[in-house]
Amino acid sequence: MAKARESRAVLCSKCRQLISNQEKTCPHCGALQPDLFGYGGPLRALFRDSLDPVNLLTGASVTLYAGSLLGSFETLLSPPSLLDIGSPSGKVLYLMGMTGGAAWACGHLWTLLTASLLHGSILHIFFNLQWLRALGPMTVQLLGPARFVVLFFLSGVGGFLLSNVVSGTPTIGASCGLFGLMGGLMVFGWRRGGTIGAAMKSTMLKYAAIGFAISFAIPNVNNWGHAGGFLAGMAIAFLMPKFEGRHEGRGVQLLALALLVATAAGFGLSVWQMWAPFQNGGAVCAS
Ligand SMILES: [Zn+2]
Repeated sequence: MAKARESRAVLCSKCRQLISNQEKTCPHCGALQPDLFGYGGPLRALFRDSLDPVNLLTGASVTLYAGSLLGSFETLLSPPSLLDIGSPSGKVLYLMGMTGGAAWACGHLWTLLTASLLHGSILHIFFNLQWLRALGPMTVQLLGPARFVVLFFLSGVGGFLLSNVVSGTPTIGASCGLFGLMGGLMVFGWRRGGTIGAAMKSTMLKYAAIGFAISFAIPNVNNWGHAGGFLAGMAIAFLMPKFEGRHEGRGVQLLALALLVATAAGFGLSVWQMWAPFQNGGAVCAS
């Protein structure tokens, strides 16, 4: 026999009014399952107190880069050019969740998420983490940790989707998501208005101009991805609050959690799907 849950006072996961955890519908805002089956508190605590998403993404990127290097001894010993110093091999990157190319041809949709945390050289990861450390904390402070996660990963999806459809070249890197942060903060500043908003808008416009100028000057940069990420970030910002410090509801927190879980699961899926082709020496679909 199922044991009845002990009656407790909890905060509604949507409107944050005090309610009983026994309520099926919030008496204040009408939300269904206002305690999220007991997970309302932990979800709120995760994004309010526990999770620093900028550190999480930095740590994950560095760890994955180190892992990709460990799997690529041959390329490390004889880099083809200066920009290739510290470059993992293409096979290892496919195994870890690179998008485009064979992964896209095989229909590995999850690589639209995993590719954002992979990098192809020391310079690549260094520059991207510099941008992440500059734009990330600002986004978290203005919009909140869950909205930052959503903006970063969905901009990455938008950028990689455009580049996979238009150019199809194998691609990785945080820069699609980072251009999304720039586009998102630019639209945020424009909608917010006032002196601060206008300054934010022009700063982001300047950053983006610098970013695009550098991108076009360096060979093998995914310009389609950057453009797609920037446009996606702009579009997403219209669905977000136009003023800073707004409470993050359970919808955006659940979406952010789902994106993080799907990304983590995606790394496992890539290993699973690419392992056999990797061993056989070619990049062909496992199934
Ligand atoms: Zn409520």
